Amino acid sequence: MSFLEIQDFLSQLKPLLNVSEEELAVLRKPQNVLKANLNVAGNSYPAYRVQFNNARGPFKGGIRFHPEVSEDEVTSLSFWMSLKTALVDIPLGGGKGGITVNPKSLSVDELEQLAREYVRAFWQNLGSDKDIPAPDVYTTPQIMIWMLDEYEKLAGKKDPGMITGKPLDAGGSQLRDIATALGGVFVLEEVISHNNFLGRSVAIQGYGNAGYNVAHLLHKRGFKIIAISDSKGAIYNAEGFDLEKIDAAKRETGSVIGTENCEKISDILSVDADILIPAALGGSITVDNATSIKAKIILELANGPVTKDADEILFGNKIMVLPDILANAGGVTVSYFEWLQNNKDEKWSAEVVKQKLKDIMTKATKSLLEENNSFSGESSVNLRTTAYIIAIKRILQAEKERLT
Ligand code: NAD
Repeated sequence: MSFLEIQDFLSQLKPLLNVSEEELAVLRKPQNVLKANLNVAGNSYPAYRVQFNNARGPFKGGIRFHPEVSEDEVTSLSFWMSLKTALVDIPLGGGKGGITVNPKSLSVDELEQLAREYVRAFWQNLGSDKDIPAPDVYTTPQIMIWMLDEYEKLAGKKDPGMITGKPLDAGGSQLRDIATALGGVFVLEEVISHNNFLGRSVAIQGYGNAGYNVAHLLHKRGFKIIAISDSKGAIYNAEGFDLEKIDAAKRETGSVIGTENCEKISDILSVDADILIPAALGGSITVDNATSIKAKIILELANGPVTKDADEILFGNKIMVLPDILANAGGVTVSYFEWLQNNKDEKWSAEVVKQKLKDIMTKATKSLLEENNSFSGESSVNLRTTAYIIAIKRILQAEKERLT
């Protein structure tokens, strides 16, 4: 969604938020837009850090390296980050960063130089008490460490909480690698128990970090994974897959469709599964395919997998969409734990991280379901709208308290 579309969407939400245009003004534009051109090996790369809102705590959000990064995209993503941290109620604001570059075209040395240049451009606006970046599309734990190293040199002090997503032995947190999927599982479990939902068959679109981990976590909990896809195609098995065979095929052939003795299908979205998990790209569920979806629950691990018009069709068909700002907030929540551990000079075990993540995700899901029930009958709204209302109200409340 462009930032202009976000503005339209805020105007549509205004009557439900019951706030004045003056109060809403803080969400009409970011607090700071930082820009630079970074020079590496004779090329110049546009770079951005957009600090959207810090009323609830320091700005927080990833940095992506991608050829399509633009100021508008980074601004929209920084807005969604502000809502995400508010919805799961962690004491952080929202920001996002990016460099317009194809990182695959760079050597390792050039990539390191670019990461360090980014910090040299913006370091005075970063820090564990100001703005805490993290990995995003095509940025890795290694890149986070280069950035931290550069920051600490420039700032002349140690500040490991200045960035998250670091390798475990360099100040990272346990479970960061599976955090997004695990957070999504906790959301799903709470929704299932709240609704006494009995279905346990699952279709997963995308088999990367989010899709692979959610498949394994759900399989261990007794769910039946009946369909999986990646960029090369989709496979189906009504009895449920043996994930080890799929993992072997993915390793050996590069795709899940290389799995032996499985049925290849052309469309994963219309599979007769109880739960559908989009874990690939944004915009995959549209008006063209929403009516064919049979699942009763959609867990949005991907960012923005359902278009606005498709959302209305799904709501009309009584399909419950667990919105991305909740469903995939496990990642930023464990980033928050990493920041806390760094700031307190602590190291938490995997069990402690898991329990704390469960507490936060379950509480946020319960509040969302309860608040959603308060809009009943003719004024009922979908969970996404309710999630936005909760998050926006929290940010506006924090802003108000600062001014009174
Ligand atoms: P990834 O690159 O590890 O995996 C993406 C997967 O999607 C790959 O298996 C790829 O083959 C598959 N894919 C691509 N095009 C496809 C298509 N047309 N049909 C089916 N599959 C397709 O990425 P990821 O980290 O797993 O992220 C997936 C989604 O989750 C993204 O939308 C991302 O923004 C979101 N997300 C991820 C995290 C995280 O911590 N990894 C956190 C928040 C949100």
